[in-house]
Amino acid sequence: MHELGLADAMMKMVQKLVKEEGAERVIAVTVSIGDLSGVVPRFMADAWEAVTDGTPYQGVPLHIETIPGVAQCLECGEQFQVDTKRMKCPHCGGVRLTPISGRDMTIEEIDVE
Ligand SMILES: [Zn+2]
Repeated sequence: MHELGLADAMMKMVQKLVKEEGAERVIAVTVSIGDLSGVVPRFMADAWEAVTDGTPYQGVPLHIETIPGVAQCLECGEQFQVDTKRMKCPHCGGVRLTPISGRDMTIEEIDVE
């Protein structure tokens, strides 16, 4: 479960950003997870709970937004939303695809007070 490592890295990044802002307390964190990132949102939520346990971030809710995966077909140039179970061009059936969006996990927002 690589979500644990990611959640840990994310917590460190939150820590750093909050320090730079000089904020007192984190109220909520929002991340976006791309459909093609290989990160499972449900696992990410669990991992966040696990890594923040016993830290100042314990109990801080993690809001997760999912970003649809968009790919382009290298055969016909069609751009489409990818169904991760069926990695195929809906237009020509081509399987040579290049991802356009939805590959990343990004911290979108940190609510502080
Ligand atoms: Zn195609």
